[in-house]
Amino acid sequence: MSEGRPRAVVDRGACRGAGVCTRRAPHTFSLDAERKAVAACPPGDPAEALREAERCCPNFAIRLVDVSR
Ligand code: SF4
Repeated sequence: MSEGRPRAVVDRGACRGAGVCTRRAPHTFSLDAERKAVAACPPGDPAEALREAERCCPNFAIRLVDVSR
């Protein structure tokens, strides 16, 4: 049974490559060659870490999507 674990979506236009998300949820977020965050799907971190990354992104570039149904 799913417990509503969210997926992360990154707005590449807003991402400035600060890398905060890669420290908050290192098994989900990485920086690509353009220094834009990429989110693994499914995420590799618990929901709380994803929420922390979303909250701490200085450019509000992370959105969490609840995929449970
Ligand atoms: S914290 Fe935000 S701005 Fe920084 S790399 Fe992650 S998504 Fe991009």
